[in-house]
Amino acid sequence: MQTIKDILNTGSVTVSFEVFPPKKADAYDSVRDAVLKIADLQPSFMSVTYGAAGTTAGMTVELADEILHRRNVPVLPHLTCVASSRQHVDKMLDTYKTLGIHNCMALRGDLPKDGKICEDFPHASDLIRYIRANSDLCIGAACYPEGHVESHNKSKDIDYLKMKVDAGCDFLTTQMFFDNTIFYNFLYRVLQAGIQIPVIAGIMPITSARQLSRSVSLSGTQVPERFRAIVDRFQDHPDAMKQAGILYASQQIIDLIANDVKHIHVYSMNKPEVAAGILANLSEILCL
Ligand code: FAD
Repeated sequence: MQTIKDILNTGSVTVSFEVFPPKKADAYDSVRDAVLKIADLQPSFMSVTYGAAGTTAGMTVELADEILHRRNVPVLPHLTCVASSRQHVDKMLDTYKTLGIHNCMALRGDLPKDGKICEDFPHASDLIRYIRANSDLCIGAACYPEGHVESHNKSKDIDYLKMKVDAGCDFLTTQMFFDNTIFYNFLYRVLQAGIQIPVIAGIMPITSARQLSRSVSLSGTQVPERFRAIVDRFQDHPDAMKQAGILYASQQIIDLIANDVKHIHVYSMNKPEVAAGILANLSEILCL
């Protein structure tokens, strides 16, 4: 099985999807069914998030294992370090090896509300350095075109991003953005910093006003007036809102591909119909 680095280096456009495990174990089967339907679409790869402070560690790996072995789709399980000890990370690396998982998204994670952090890996760069030294995994990391919410200085943010790259990560995936100009400006700053690894554009199709306000409050992402008007107009009509959200995301992706951006990661929110809708809107474009 190719690593994600290999897949990104083929020169073709890639479209991948992100899914997340349930918060509670009794919802696992329904989430797994939705996730496998997304895997049936045969994306370039799928990432599986890691609940805040590692709360879903077991289900993240279980879902990744099912996607890989039941659908033969390459997987990228996420791993956060803010509350993870070195022993826990070692255990996760062993588990990936046993399951034949070759990729990992190395993140710090959001600071826990109860303040319980583990000092072993204070920043994502520390986790990346450790994984690079102790495994041959292909490593991804996060980046923030509008700056990370805790960061008051965009150039410092890029300096820290460069530290992650120098620590050994193989590719970057962005936080969602709704205005492609922000992404193009970010790519320019990334190149200026001497970062040459692939940057995957993270696109979130918004299908409800609630999802928009939750996502924006967590990430600080700007909402352009054009998109705000769409949400204001259609938020009380779920089917129309879903259609408009899928189309807006599809148009963003078409503009990115037209401007030679090769790699797109769609935050599919475990919704097979959203993932399928995006791919249907790109069907001819992805054949080029
Ligand atoms: P870092 O790179 O460590 O950066 C965190 C902050 O610290 C930034 O403000 C940065 O500027 C600053 N910083 C970095 N290095 C240093 C340093 N050496 N000294 C001082 N300051 C420094 N969260 C989850 O809980 N689970 C997930 O599965 C998950 N998946 C994600 C996927 C993507 C693509 C993205 C963009 C985010 C994801 N997140 C996830 C959210 C992420 O965990 C949070 O944004 C978190 O607050 C930062 O993680 P990071 O890996 O970017 O941290």
